[in-house]
Amino acid sequence: MPQHYTRSTVSADAWCPACQKQTQHRIDDRRIGPCMECMKQLEIRRDEYEERAGIKEFCGNMPRVQAEQEAREEVYGTVAPTSQKGLF
Ligand SMILES: [Zn+2]
Repeated sequence: MPQHYTRSTVSADAWCPACQKQTQHRIDDRRIGPCMECMKQLEIRRDEYEERAGIKEFCGNMPRVQAEQEAREEVYGTVAPTSQKGLF
């Protein structure tokens, strides 16, 4: 049975499969929401991604699209490619 919380509850301890431990989770509408530690990590990564993309665009004199793509690969790792790249 899913656990419910009072309306005033903003966070609660719960197991996070990504963190592999008990963490604080946000409570959305009395239901357990996303893990706060994971959200924090995503925020840090997004900031880093934005920063890198900006640096590449302005200092590397790169088109925004390319700068964003390279920054994404560096920060998030290569995500499942939609098309095969060359051998290198
Ligand atoms: Zn987590």
